Order: sequence, then C-alpha cells, then structure tokens
Amino acid sequence: MNLVFLGPPGSGKGTQAIRVAKAMSLAHISTGDLLREAVKNKTELGKKVEDIMKKGQLVPDEIVISLIGQKISAIEKAKGFILDGFPRNLPQAESLKFMFDHKKMKLDKALLLQVSDSEVVKRLSGRWHCSKCNSGYNYPRNMPKHEGVCDKDGEPLLRRADDEESVVRNRLEVYKRETSPVEKFYRKESILKEIEGEQIPDKVFQDILTAVK
Ligand code: AMP
Repeated sequence: MNLVFLGPPGSGKGTQAIRVAKAMSLAHISTGDLLREAVKNKTELGKKVEDIMKKGQLVPDEIVISLIGQKISAIEKAKGFILDGFPRNLPQAESLKFMFDHKKMKLDKALLLQVSDSEVVKRLSGRWHCSKCNSGYNYPRNMPKHEGVCDKDGEPLLRRADDEESVVRNRLEVYKRETSPVEKFYRKESILKEIEGEQIPDKVFQDILTAVK
C-alpha cells in the first residue's frame, strides 16, 4: 500500500506517519527529514536549501522530486511506503502521478490531518527535540522531567529553526497557497480521506488505520 500524508505544519502528520508505517510495515519517507539531514551534514544540497527552509519557504521542485524519485526507486515495490511532506504543490503531485504511472504503481490513499491555525501555532511553539537522539517533547502535554534536557540521554533540547512563530505563520500561508490545491487534486481522484487531527493522538492513529482499510 502506498500512502500520502497531508496536513499543515504541526498537524501531527510526521508523528502519525512514523507510527502508521511501523504498524503496517511500510517505509516512511519524509522530505523534511531528508532535507534537514542534508543541512546537518553540510552537503551541497544542504547548503542550497538551508536558508529557504529557515524562512519556511518551499525548496525548488526539481530538488524534492529528484529526492523522492531516488527513494521510491530504492524501495521494493512489494513493501509500500508513506510519503510525509510530499507532494507540497500541484507540480509535485503531477510528477508523483507520472512516476507512479511509469512504474505501474498506484497511490492508494491521501490522508489529510485537519488542524486549525490557532492549534498549529500553539503546538509548534511548544515543540522541542533532543539534539542527540531526536526524541520529541511538547509543552505542556509531554514535558521532559528536567527543564531543557532529554529524559533518555540528558542531552540539551532544541527547537527547529522554522518553529519560531513568525516562520510558522509563513509556513501556514505557504500551506494554504501551495498545498491546499493538492487536497483538491486527490479529492477529485476520490482517494482523499479527511481525519480530525485535534483528537488525542491514539484516536487520530485509529482513525487513520480505519481510513486505509
Ligand atoms: P516539514 O518537515 O515537512 O515541515 O518540512 C520542513 C521544510 O522542508 C519545509 O518548510 C520546506 O522548506 C522543506 N520541504 C519539505 N518537503 C518539501 C517539499 N515537498 N517541497 C518543498 N519543500 C519541502
């Protein structure tokens, strides 16, 4: 089964994508993670995209389309995957369709996690992660035992550079302008499933599993 996860920043799609991928034995492909990794490792690609990501803008289509193409080709067809953070605009959705047609594969469902703007800003301003093991924390729901350090390894917690409030507002604007048309694209193809993303994470997870059955 091949799935796409859509939703504004902070909708929980990354967390849910990892959980669903594990439960269904699917590969998890996150363009955001791949790009952040490149920035961290200071690769040529990382240097090209760092400033764009800091501002909360989309990196050029040819970069992410090529990244996704390489990843999809590397996964066995039988396994199936979840795309998290891709496609982000109509040209990317059309390229993905072209890639699937070419490989005689199909996209089974696109899951849209619905979360309001005010909830997004609230969630992202409280989002922290461990600088070493990447464990995530959310204030006030899931706080570390000791302020500013990871429960697992005691390393300092960091925030993503693009989780600062003005950047979050920009990312929301970009989502509405660029990514909302992708929702319509998949609704027209009759594969869009809408999920209420403001429920407790376990209920969101269950709703996703029901939607993909
Ligand atoms: P995410 O982790 O999905 O929120 O992505 C973080 C940032 O990576 C975005 O704000 C963009 O700058 C970049 N990015 C991730 N996926 C894409 C994509 N499909 N197209 C363009 N830029 C992307």
